Amino acid sequence: MVIDVHNHLGEDVDGTVQTVEMLLAKMRVNGIDRAVVFPFNDVDPGVCFSKANDRIAQACSEHEELIGFCRVDPNCEEAAVEEVERCVRELGLRGVKLHPRSQSFYPDDPEAVRVVEKAADLSVPVIVHTARGEPFSDPVRVGRLAEEVPDTPIIMAHMGKEQGYDAAIRVAEEHENAYLEVSLVKDPEVIERAAERVGEERILFGSDSPYGSPAAQLEVVRAADVDHDLILEENAKRILGL
Ligand SMILES: [Zn+2]
Repeated sequence: MVIDVHNHLGEDVDGTVQTVEMLLAKMRVNGIDRAVVFPFNDVDPGVCFSKANDRIAQACSEHEELIGFCRVDPNCEEAAVEEVERCVRELGLRGVKLHPRSQSFYPDDPEAVRVVEKAADLSVPVIVHTARGEPFSDPVRVGRLAEEVPDTPIIMAHMGKEQGYDAAIRVAEEHENAYLEVSLVKDPEVIERAAERVGEERILFGSDSPYGSPAAQLEVVRAADVDHDLILEENAKRILGL
């Protein structure tokens, strides 16, 4: 089985679109069995992404191969915490996506910490966009978040991007609840290096579709001399409770 932990559905403010049908077709072609889905920086998010999260829940109720995460803006403060609770308890979503650059917050801001504490209370993982060199998204900040909330998995999407791979690996070395997600990584050697330093148990396959190509990303993972089953399937199953 292959599980892709990073996919967007809906329409982004940058004009990018991915429908359920587009994603399901990519999954079929690439032999991806399950996909974690969450909103883009949606053109019509509703209050603190509530409308976008409702659409994710709807898609997941119609397609059992999809696993929904909610997206929230920590700047909504208490409303963001309540939205996480609503999404997990009422809509059945199974995790939280945070995007520091798009929503203009630092991952270790008190508002973000409160959102992640709520995820921990609800026993669901959190995936955070990370990219060294971009505003707000440095992996080191996620390290501080992981330290504040040690009892829930925190997945670093893109593992800090090119300039941040080593910083993200270091964060994962220092915090057992920090995980590395490989979307947009082009060099299999980066995955081998991460596996050597933190172990394959802490690395997850994600494509960031439609921004990233599931086919190309699978190729990079499979070209790495690592335990593919852990990265493509077992770790995600464990973290998502599948
Ligand atoms: Zn993404």
